[in-house]
Amino acid sequence: MSTDVMQAYPPSRAAGVERIKRVQPAAYARTRNHLSGAVTGLSPYLTHGLLTLEDVLAEVLQRGSLDVGHKLVFELGWREFFRHVWQHAGTGILSSLHPGPLPEQAYARELPADIRQACTGVPVIDEAVRTLYATGMLHNHARMWLASYVVHLRHVHWRAGADWLVAHLLDGDLASNHLSWQWVAGTGSHKPYLFNAENVARYAPASWHSPGSVVDQSYEDLDRMARTSPGILDKANHAAGTLARATHAARLAQRHALAEPDLRTAPPPDMGVKTPDASQDVPCLSGRTVWLVHPWALRSPPPGFEDAVVVGVYPREHHAAWPWPEVRWRWVDAAMAELTSQRWWVSSQELASALAGAARVHSVDDPHISAWLEPVAQLDPAPRLFPQVERPCASFSQWWTRATRGLKRAQELL
Ligand SMILES: Cc1cc2nc3c(=O)[nH]c(=O)nc-3n(C[C@H](O)[C@H](O)[C@H](O)COP(=O)(O)OP(=O)(O)OC[C@H]3O[C@@H](n4cnc5c(N)ncnc54)[C@H](O)[C@@H]3O)c2cc1C
Repeated sequence: MSTDVMQAYPPSRAAGVERIKRVQPAAYARTRNHLSGAVTGLSPYLTHGLLTLEDVLAEVLQRGSLDVGHKLVFELGWREFFRHVWQHAGTGILSSLHPGPLPEQAYARELPADIRQACTGVPVIDEAVRTLYATGMLHNHARMWLASYVVHLRHVHWRAGADWLVAHLLDGDLASNHLSWQWVAGTGSHKPYLFNAENVARYAPASWHSPGSVVDQSYEDLDRMARTSPGILDKANHAAGTLARATHAARLAQRHALAEPDLRTAPPPDMGVKTPDASQDVPCLSGRTVWLVHPWALRSPPPGFEDAVVVGVYPREHHAAWPWPEVRWRWVDAAMAELTSQRWWVSSQELASALAGAARVHSVDDPHISAWLEPVAQLDPAPRLFPQVERPCASFSQWWTRATRGLKRAQELL
């Protein structure tokens, strides 16, 4: 699997730029909701900072002008909107922004094994989980279906689903992921996002279609399920025989149960990432300018840092809380190794000691590890495409109106 991911998404800036050159804005706008649509596949490159939103837009506009309201620009805006919310809410994005359809205690805190093992018996869900484990990627529509099923039909708390999904994605990003889950759950939007079998049949290939399953219902019935506590719902389903049918389908699906990929809090030992050595590494940095490359800013230092020692760092505390599958470690490390003379897996204290003798230390900010970097490095701001919106916006439309006020052409964003 790891070779397939490396081939599908080669971990280099050059490969990301090639991908931008293949973006077809008109086809994107027409087909992006279809699983086979002309989506860009740029998110692993954007999450890990090999590319910025500005890189994407600048390259696309070389081939023709776009309105600022073009679907592609709008979707790039969603990424930046979620960053805006993160900037204002901080770690508050990890808790419900406001109440959802049911009280918090109505939702289970653990993601059930049949979802993790892709054997729910609901084809759209099992296919989504299989695709996720095999590729580290999932189409936006499939992410929405998966999240909606977990929260509204299985009554599992969005946070349990969000923590699980972000861990397995190659593009896992705390803002885009956790806030999207909140949007689906109705704790970050005004109503729960619901989908049914008809919607799946319209946008996904045949193997995903789910007639006769729990998602094959009217939107009124799905909404009622989302707003009914699980205990009451189980009794009603039992009476209607729905539970027995669902259990039978799940039993059949169990024959194809998948093992969830292991998650690692530390880099695989053979990757050559080490903790800094006080006798070897530290003296080499004495009096030098150091540029830190980290997993959310995998790019070369800017002009003016030609003489800097370029060191790659993996923040030990972050990875202890948010582990990755092996494939993501290897993907990120392949890109980091191209840019750096050494890579460290390091705690904030070890990093401060290792850099104590350096003349100056610089890097690029990223909210995943701002607090970790700030004590040791001078930070360039995290890259942005849209004008800064100072006032916290509760909805995307509010943010979009402010961020694009007075703009007509996408070119004006550059
Ligand atoms: C439950 C859920 C979890 C998600 N988790 C993540 C995540 O961890 N990391 C992540 O980058 N995206 C996440 N997304 C957003 C979106 O699904 C992915 O960005 C998109 O599917 C990536 O594929 P692509 O690059 O082909 O997207 P395209 O459709 O080609 O879009 C181009 C770029 O625009 C941005 N974008 C597009 N749609 C969205 C969106 N709805 N929200 C935010 N940014 C968007 C992304 O940076 C994307 O790379 C999540 C969405 C949902 C519903």
